[in-house]
Amino acid sequence: MQPEHELSILKRRLAVLTKAAVKNETILRRTREREMSLLEVESLDALLRLLVSGLVESYGLEAVTLFICDPLHEIRHLLLHDGISPDRLTGVQFVDELVGIAPQFEHYIRPWLGPFTVSDHARLFPQTEVALASVALIPLMRHKALIGSLNFGSLDRTRFTPYHAADFLDHIGTIASFSLENTINRAKLIHSGLTDVLTGWHNRRYLQDRLCGELARAQRNQQPLTCLLLDIDHFKRVNDAHGHLVGDAVLRKIAQRVEVQVRASDVAARFGGEEFTVLLPNTKTSEALDMAERIRQSVARTPIRVGDACSLYMTLSIGIASLIPDREEADLNSLGEGLLTQADVALYRAKSAGRNCVQLSV
Ligand code: GH3
Ligand code: MG
Ligand code: MG
Repeated sequence: MQPEHELSILKRRLAVLTKAAVKNETILRRTREREMSLLEVESLDALLRLLVSGLVESYGLEAVTLFICDPLHEIRHLLLHDGISPDRLTGVQFVDELVGIAPQFEHYIRPWLGPFTVSDHARLFPQTEVALASVALIPLMRHKALIGSLNFGSLDRTRFTPYHAADFLDHIGTIASFSLENTINRAKLIHSGLTDVLTGWHNRRYLQDRLCGELARAQRNQQPLTCLLLDIDHFKRVNDAHGHLVGDAVLRKIAQRVEVQVRASDVAARFGGEEFTVLLPNTKTSEALDMAERIRQSVARTPIRVGDACSLYMTLSIGIASLIPDREEADLNSLGEGLLTQADVALYRAKSAGRNCVQLSV
């Protein structure tokens, strides 16, 4: 081969390699910039937007969606508290759990790359009108728990295939999960206080502090402390049929009805999700039974009206547990936990007995 010809081949090869190197460097720089902005983001809604529209742009994708596990609706409430409507965040969906949404979400611990199929993946990209060709599903994990899924959709059939290495996607998943957890924790800290935002009741943290105080008092005076654990029956159906906002309104109205029955000396708290606790100091189980029955009836008797069109018959199941702390008992924390557990066991029995009823711990 002529040296000039050889030289021109080498020059061309070098040009191709240089172009690839520049492209790789650009990708690397963009990735680094994207990661920095994810890690430094100030608010939860900014992070969610960055994870969805930001990644569409950075990686030239057709669609990105984010599914977040939020069974207690905590994350949605943090957003609402900041004036952000969770339903309006394009591409973001809040779910109780991922299982059942796509077959790949069973045993979901590694990214899944492969062809888009309507039966498996349409629910992941509800707003995408064009036909996607390949998808990458990236699990978001924190401390071994699945907290969500980041879903990439491409028009290019060869963009995500099972033969591609998933390290890069794994990496994005780690950064996304970390930023998500951090931002949620920061938002919770800001809003935590001791009050539940939705109902205006005390929250679980307050209850746990007060529980120790009340147990100490009951111990000093050798009086019973009784605990009611209330759980709304089939509440999930309300959300499923009418949406999260109607669910919230129902929760608030049920809390108001319960509140009417609660005495000034009692301690009422939202225990989490659709569960409430009422501590009744110096109250025997027979009195507590009467009160629980009044609460149950106040909810079951009249339907809950939400807006003009919606009227829902709701019921509660209630578990009751009671104790007088031994004078010698030193570990009031464990005693408190035991009391809540017993009330929970009684509540479970009320559910098993057909719901809309009160059960005493045995
Ligand atoms: P059960 O009678 O067995 O208690 O059935 P359930 O449907 O009430 O119980 P489950 O635990 O299956 O569902 C509770 C639901 O409550 C699931 C969750 O999405 C919803 N939820 C929890 N917190 C909130 C909230 O703050 N607002 C709304 N709208 N829903 C909530
Ligand atoms: Mg429950
Ligand atoms: Mg329930």
